[in-house]
Amino acid sequence: MAVKGKVVVITGASSGIGEATAKLLAANGAMVMLGARREDRLYKIANEINVNGGRADYRTVDVTKPEEVEALVKAAQDSFGQVDVIFNNAGIMPNSPMSAVRTDEWNKMIDVNIKGVLNGIAAVMPIFTAQKHGHIITTSSVAGLKNYVGSGVYGATKFAVKNAMEVTRMESANEGTNIRTTTLYPAAINTELLDHIGDEQTASNMKNFYKQHGISPDAIARVVNFAIDQPEDVDISEFTIYPTNQA
Ligand code: NDP
Repeated sequence: MAVKGKVVVITGASSGIGEATAKLLAANGAMVMLGARREDRLYKIANEINVNGGRADYRTVDVTKPEEVEALVKAAQDSFGQVDVIFNNAGIMPNSPMSAVRTDEWNKMIDVNIKGVLNGIAAVMPIFTAQKHGHIITTSSVAGLKNYVGSGVYGATKFAVKNAMEVTRMESANEGTNIRTTTLYPAAINTELLDHIGDEQTASNMKNFYKQHGISPDAIARVVNFAIDQPEDVDISEFTIYPTNQA
């Protein structure tokens, strides 16, 4: 079963990677349920997809709240009759040096980037296990593979989801539930991610770096599309995506 006809729940769908992925998958015949907190953005994106002949619906969600993630998945079932894929993509990156001790931001990253992903896995697991089919896709980061200065806690959250995703894949294979997992490790992608960095020096450094290296989120959308499009007995478990000019 290819992208066409699949029902895909996408968190962080109101901008950046989630928005680009929603538009591409819908253009290729998937039915997409968009989730994020900014309703005006979700409405606009869903409307654009529907006007262009695709099928999209949306529901506001704060991924740190398990009941809201469950409601998003339920909304996909109500609108489209099933759920085949969840794209756990919502995330935040308020980077700073550890010495700045910005503990509020550390906690927010843990809540959104780790607990948000776990809430997504929890919401679909009973459904995917019962139907013996499903695909969990999660956006980690190259900061979940390597250490970067300024990325002590962000990187920790992205390493954490790498582990949860790979163990989910291994256990599903052992249990025979046919749940595929795909973890994405993008490098610099031009989105709104840098808009919320509170530490001024880090924000300025990263903005300069992205100006030189950042690429379009469409690159990640194409990778997600490719992973979903594989035959059901093929699980592309990991992708690392760099701008060609980023070392
Ligand atoms: P954006 O800031 O454009 O997108 C982030 C999305 O997450 C938004 O849709 C935002 O929507 C949503 N979001 C944030 N907090 C919450 C929350 N509590 N509940 C629900 N949704 C939330 O950045 P990107 O597209 O770049 O980010 C997508 C993912 O990609 C993130 O996980 C990020 O860590 C990862 N990533 C990005 C890279 C990059 O260079 N851009 C590189 C590597 C990984 P809203 O505010 O409406 O809730």
